[in-house]
Amino acid sequence: MSEGGKGGNGRDSYDLIVIGAGPGGYVCAIRAAQLGMRAAIIDARETPGGTCLNIGCIPSKALLHASRLYEAQKDLSAFGVEAKAPKLNLKAMMAYKEESVEANVKGVGFLLKKNKVAYRHGRARLVSAGAVEVGGERLQAPHIVIATGSDPAAFPNVKMDETRILSSTGALSLSSVPKSLAVVGAGYIGLEMGSVWRRLGAEVVILEALPRIAPGMDGEIARHLGRLLEKQGLQIRAGVKVKGIAAGKKGAEIAFADKNDALFVEKVLIAVGRTPLSGGLGLEALGVKISARGFIETDEACRTSEEGIYAIGDVAGGAMLAHKASEEGVVLAENLCGIKSALNREAIPSVIYTHPEAASVGKTEEALKEEGADYKTGRFPFTANGRAKVNREAEGFVKILAEKGSDRILGVHILGAEAGLMIAQAVTAMEFGAAAEDLARTIHAHPTLSEAMKEAALSAEKRALHM
Ligand code: FAD
Ligand code: NAD
Repeated sequence: MSEGGKGGNGRDSYDLIVIGAGPGGYVCAIRAAQLGMRAAIIDARETPGGTCLNIGCIPSKALLHASRLYEAQKDLSAFGVEAKAPKLNLKAMMAYKEESVEANVKGVGFLLKKNKVAYRHGRARLVSAGAVEVGGERLQAPHIVIATGSDPAAFPNVKMDETRILSSTGALSLSSVPKSLAVVGAGYIGLEMGSVWRRLGAEVVILEALPRIAPGMDGEIARHLGRLLEKQGLQIRAGVKVKGIAAGKKGAEIAFADKNDALFVEKVLIAVGRTPLSGGLGLEALGVKISARGFIETDEACRTSEEGIYAIGDVAGGAMLAHKASEEGVVLAENLCGIKSALNREAIPSVIYTHPEAASVGKTEEALKEEGADYKTGRFPFTANGRAKVNREAEGFVKILAEKGSDRILGVHILGAEAGLMIAQAVTAMEFGAAAEDLARTIHAHPTLSEAMKEAALSAEKRALHM
């Protein structure tokens, strides 16, 4: 590998330059540096970590955690704990969220330093294959990785002013609890942020265009999750077409296409997906192929149509998830360093961090039906799991879909208190090409929620022991 530094032409030269220091970019740079590459990373934000650490996964999980503690504290009498009703201090909760972000962002800064990855703050663009401009300086490298992520998708003709009409970023930083909040979109952000503000006292209505919520999830899981969220007080209106949203002094008015009624709320959160950030990077001029929806086109090895230019994470399409972005970063760095490495796109887990959580890996039942696959289903409810009953968190179930005949696991879907943790075991099983029988024969510690996984696997052969 070449040593970085000033080349004969006065430019800074590296083996690898990454544009975007989110979970895709920073992990790619660290892995490349571990393997001996001299790497630089550039981000338009002062702090590394990208959307995920600064305005995404981490702050949203902080608010989900804090709001859940607040709500759970309201009534512990079932456990023999009598306490005064908790009082919300939103300012302190927001400070806790900020501290959590800061700690994580600092951690990434430390890791970049430790691995001798140069960090440049500024907006970057490619001036040619192999050369990037940032803050009037030119950096060069034979390999350039675009990891610029995504931004909240806009709603047609609606400006997200972050006062009345919010994006996810605004919804993570409100200074008071709105009396009423309408959320447009019942995907990950809508359900998670809707849950946060409902727990903190807002009247929340979620408006979804499709006839169902959480479109990427298994339909049965989504249906049950919807029912449980409604029981918690979230109003869900699926199959509605929002025509327009107008901000006023006291609130915002939502008009619907197919109804005469309108909805007046204090604030609106737009959560209708995210758009890739592929513009302004000079990619078109270099001939890099970009799809009609703005995603940079890549092959399995994250190579774009132009040699020496690669794309990973949200900007490259596929699941817009932090761990998918990171894994693409690892695989790309390894391939560039001569290690044959690949990512199993069939085993990318996804989790909606509501309470209970919804977690999924592999094929949904709808996808299997559409393919005409010959499959069997194992199901086990948490109401039959000892620990879930003790914890009084017995909502939900585990569902395992396995191929008939070979018994190979095709998909696992969980609705339950620790679904996000439990799905890891299903991902591992799928990575090893396991059969449902493998999970059924695996000894699970008692009493744990994870025993429901074993029982669901047993139930695929109609031999669950506790049901
Ligand atoms: P990003 O994290 O978006 O990072 C891209 C970086 O590139 C940014 O820092 C940006 O400033 C920089 N950049 C862009 N253009 C330029 C340029 N021209 N020059 C220099 N820098 C540039 N995913 C999960 O897996 N789990 C979750 O719990 C989760 N929660 C989320 C909650 C919210 C509210 C949101 C909005 C997203 C959440 N996500 C979650 C999605 C996750 O944040 C993204 O999938 C992930 O951040 C994508 O990583 P990335 O590296 O591709 O891009
Ligand atoms: P999403 O794609 O998850 O959900 C968007 C929802 O909006 C869908 O249900 C869609 O049908 C609906 N919709 C689209 N247009 C609409 C309209 N005009 N009216 C009403 N509904 C409409 O997108 P998101 O919730 O904005 O999140 C963006 C991305 O960020 C997600 O795709 C996800 O990958 C990522 N994310 C992940 C997590 C997590 O992993 N827990 C959390 C937050 C965000």
